Amino acid sequence: MQNIHTYDFSNKRALIRVDFNVPLNKETLAVTDDTRIRAAIPTIKKVIENGGSVVLISHLGRPSMDRELRFSLSNIVDHVSKVLGTNVKFGGDCIGKEGFEMSENLKPGEVMLLENVRYYKQETTGTEEFAKQLSQHGDVFVNDAFGTAHRAHASTTVVAKFFPNDKMFGLLIEGEIVSVDKVLNSKEKPVTAIVGGAKVSSKITIIERLLDTVDNLIVGGGMAYTFAKSQGGKVGNSLVEDDYLDVAKKIITEAKLKGVNLYIPVDTIIADDFSNDANISEVDINKIPDGWMGLDVGKQTMLDCTEIIKNSKIILWNGPMGVFEMSNFQAGTKSVADAIVEATGNNAFSLIGGGDSVAAINKFNLSDKVSYVSTGGGAMLEYLEGKELPGIKAIKEA
Ligand code: AMP
Repeated sequence: MQNIHTYDFSNKRALIRVDFNVPLNKETLAVTDDTRIRAAIPTIKKVIENGGSVVLISHLGRPSMDRELRFSLSNIVDHVSKVLGTNVKFGGDCIGKEGFEMSENLKPGEVMLLENVRYYKQETTGTEEFAKQLSQHGDVFVNDAFGTAHRAHASTTVVAKFFPNDKMFGLLIEGEIVSVDKVLNSKEKPVTAIVGGAKVSSKITIIERLLDTVDNLIVGGGMAYTFAKSQGGKVGNSLVEDDYLDVAKKIITEAKLKGVNLYIPVDTIIADDFSNDANISEVDINKIPDGWMGLDVGKQTMLDCTEIIKNSKIILWNGPMGVFEMSNFQAGTKSVADAIVEATGNNAFSLIGGGDSVAAINKFNLSDKVSYVSTGGGAMLEYLEGKELPGIKAIKEA
């Protein structure tokens, strides 16, 4: 495996797998959120500034085989040109004659974008022959699509084998990997993970993994009520997974055995309806009246969590503390975000990883005040769970 910082790209064509799976306006087909395009720019610039040329390959949505226009990457080529500040050529069909001629004749500094790789079903089936054809677009392969690194597709994984000596991670993937490794293999202490969100069932693997590495594990969000009920608490109509009561008990026991400070909320904001207009009250998490449900953590929990987070050196946050989408139930999530920002200001390393905490930190406009905000979604979760992602493995292996 090569390193993007030291590799000599001069006069080489870099085939870069990016994640340009961006939302488009349904009528105008214009890009409505270009976060993913912006995230790929440093890697593209790195190659062209180093004397190379670039062939970009990506998927967009889940097209059927009839190649609907709304899934065409031709819709975004002008936007990419604008963000990059360089004219990007559109190469058409990713294994078409026109595209191969274009990539063959690319001059240093030039950038082209191929058509949606998922127009071919061989992409998702990871067909080797198709990947081999794709590989002819480049002299070197750079994978910078972390969001699809958990898929063993032709352009994310299989293609790497045709570049045994010339494959590497792009700057975006590198940032994601370095950040997670920093959390999971930290020598600095204390390490605190805040795991919230809706259900224990979707976070159980990550929680079990974290019990081996963290000093503090704060449980929040809908999950907290399953933990409370497992200890004999009365949780009213709160979100509870009765099938997971034993799992919650086991986690509590394991945390004790492993010397992890497992923090379960002590109080909660309850509502008589799942609505921002519901009647609200604040109670002990174990004493929720029938007909009421916990939708956020209470004041004491916020104070306790803030204290733990402020005193941490390494922080991972995955999942909100409450139903932060509704203004009356966002305070707990906001207080976690504020505490993380404060800790980061005092030299802690903070990683915001996983869908809804990323949405939350963006909503509070605090994303530039934490160390790293992951764009990886499902891939980030799987990496945190300790799974070997095919796209990562394909670059690392000899
Ligand atoms: P996840 O995707 O598992 O991280 O879950 C995120 C979702 O959990 C968000 O949409 C929150 O609104 C929801 N959530 C957080 N706390 C609660 C709660 N107490 N009850 C129901 N849903 C919650």
